[in-house]
Amino acid sequence: MNNAILSYKQHPEAILQPYDAVVIGSGIGGLSAAAILAKEGRKVLVLERHYTAGGFTHSFTRRGYEWDVGIHYLGEVHRPHTELANWFNYISDGQLQWADMGEVYDKIIFGQEVFEFHKGKDNFISHLQQQFPAAADQQAIEDYVALLYEITRSARLYFAEKALPGAVSWALGGLLRRKFLHLASKTTLQVLQSITNNPKLIGVLTGQYGDYGLTPAKSSFAIHAMVAKHFLNGGSFPVGGCSRIAQTTAQVIAKAGGCVLTNAEVKEIIIHNGTAAGVRLADGAEIRCPLVISNAGIMNTYSRLLPPDVAAGYGLNTQVQQVQPSVGHIGLYLGFKKTAEELGLGKANYWIYPENGYDHDANLNNYLQNPDEAPFPLTFISFPSAKDPDWQNRYPGTATIDIITVAPYQWFANWQNTRWKKRGQDYETWKEQISQRLLQVLYQYEPQLQQHLDYHELSTPLSTQHFSNYAFGELYGIDHTPQRFGLKFLRPQTAIKNLYLSGQDVVSAGIGGALTGGVLAASAILKRDMTAKIRREVQALKQ
Ligand SMILES: Cc1cc2nc3c(=O)[nH]c(=O)nc-3n(C[C@H](O)[C@H](O)[C@H](O)COP(=O)(O)OP(=O)(O)OC[C@H]3O[C@@H](n4cnc5c(N)ncnc54)[C@H](O)[C@@H]3O)c2cc1C
Repeated sequence: MNNAILSYKQHPEAILQPYDAVVIGSGIGGLSAAAILAKEGRKVLVLERHYTAGGFTHSFTRRGYEWDVGIHYLGEVHRPHTELANWFNYISDGQLQWADMGEVYDKIIFGQEVFEFHKGKDNFISHLQQQFPAAADQQAIEDYVALLYEITRSARLYFAEKALPGAVSWALGGLLRRKFLHLASKTTLQVLQSITNNPKLIGVLTGQYGDYGLTPAKSSFAIHAMVAKHFLNGGSFPVGGCSRIAQTTAQVIAKAGGCVLTNAEVKEIIIHNGTAAGVRLADGAEIRCPLVISNAGIMNTYSRLLPPDVAAGYGLNTQVQQVQPSVGHIGLYLGFKKTAEELGLGKANYWIYPENGYDHDANLNNYLQNPDEAPFPLTFISFPSAKDPDWQNRYPGTATIDIITVAPYQWFANWQNTRWKKRGQDYETWKEQISQRLLQVLYQYEPQLQQHLDYHELSTPLSTQHFSNYAFGELYGIDHTPQRFGLKFLRPQTAIKNLYLSGQDVVSAGIGGALTGGVLAASAILKRDMTAKIRREVQALKQ
């Protein structure tokens, strides 16, 4: 029993107390902002519409298995003293632990050709160079890694600017953003084509594009570089599963008198005299509060949670028109009555592409035009029970696997007005066809699994819409195009006094990006650089 996480259904009285801040949504962006404010003595109420806390870090169980939805691996947290490790230590009071995935974190697979991403900059370079022996390719790999460092170094100033007050940002913003935007305003493909003309090398280097959901010709090089660099020193997984994140941060929030309330859907943000003054829940209950932080995504916040006349009055409706929702996804969750070890499962993720399919944009276009015949443009396979050293304590004798591919929301729009689990036989039949196709991809690489599959369940963009409230079942909030990074309004401060944004839309998709959104939101609210404070406090604890 975790008293820091309560259900509104069972504890309606939780909203009756006065709070210093209300956070809409318990994703890592909301939890981190709330936990940092709590550490500054603020009493924070986190409202979550789902029956479970954590946003995309939540886990769900079925028939004796547990799956995580939005974490397959994280970079940097398993290394002591990194900024991300410090932040997680801070918001969880040091209660989170991370299990290193080992030497190889990703396998990029084209048919039978396998390219391994080895942890550590030099290892990464040398292993890839072994498979690309031509002198020009060897140089391109070195240049590529140098570019990852170049843009991610400038990212620090670019993102720090987002927490600055208006006047300071006006004076210094251009300077702080310029270097980052030089490369961020180009597509991944443009930058890679400037260092190599080998399409196979480009296909391999962009083999993790599913981590940000946008193909090389469409994505900003910034998101590509931030993700690739994030994992360059390897991947890791939360010990005890992803739900540990909400459990531990909620304890920190509770220490200051706040709590995380599930089954509590916010219907509207109350604006009084141009200032955020609280929220109205779906059942009509009002919570008055001097500070509102929305972790529900910019599209939800401006298009659905603010009264339309308010959004129009502040020009927020036109801001939303400048961003696009990211693509939807299909997730196949598998359960086996054998351990990962017995099944011979490793920890590295598989990124599977069509044979010789080095052009990811062409693969995706082909699939979008012929969904039933074309091969999946990417199949991501993750082995969570092999990554979590605590798994066998919690679910002895079992293993799980997740498989993900892209799928636009429009393919499922016919069923958008149906209810979860009651969407009809035609929906179930189509889901089963897709499940079987994905299983065939898995069995091609791990044939021993075929006889041991015990349970499978497929999620679609409608599941993401239903559980996570993304209107188009978006996988990663708003798309990571070059244009996105030029939009100054993607920052915690909004045009409305005392209304702040947090999470992935403020910074970028990924747990690290969404958490940075929370740190920036807290910094903007407290008018203080919380990154410096956290660094100092975590270091002091270690001495
Ligand atoms: C399938 C999948 C796999 C992923 N894999 C990885 C990975 O391996 N590594 C990685 O780093 N990242 C991964 N990501 C991305 C990462 O999970 C997200 O970028 C991140 O969790 C987003 O956090 P957030 O706080 O911004 O939003 P969310 O986690 O989406 O939280 C928003 C919350 O707001 C709630 N909400 C919305 N509207 C309301 C309302 N009206 N009232 C109350 N609550 C509301 C939602 O229910 C939700 O809980 C993955 C994502 C997905 C979907």
